[in-house]
Amino acid sequence: MIRTKGRACTGKRRHDTWEQAEDHRQRLIAKGGVRLTAYQCRNRACHGWHVGHLPKPRT
Ligand SMILES: [Zn+2]
Repeated sequence: MIRTKGRACTGKRRHDTWEQAEDHRQRLIAKGGVRLTAYQCRNRACHGWHVGHLPKPRT
């Protein structure tokens, strides 16, 4: 197993393309999940797209 800092993909759903991740994001938002974003995984072993929470905005 490769340990990665920050956003790990463990337990998260993987998508091959941004479109698929975006579609998943829209479904989660429809269920009430807000502040979600689709991002490309930084794990080279994964190299997929995930849907995660946006970082809290600092004002
Ligand atoms: Zn991943």
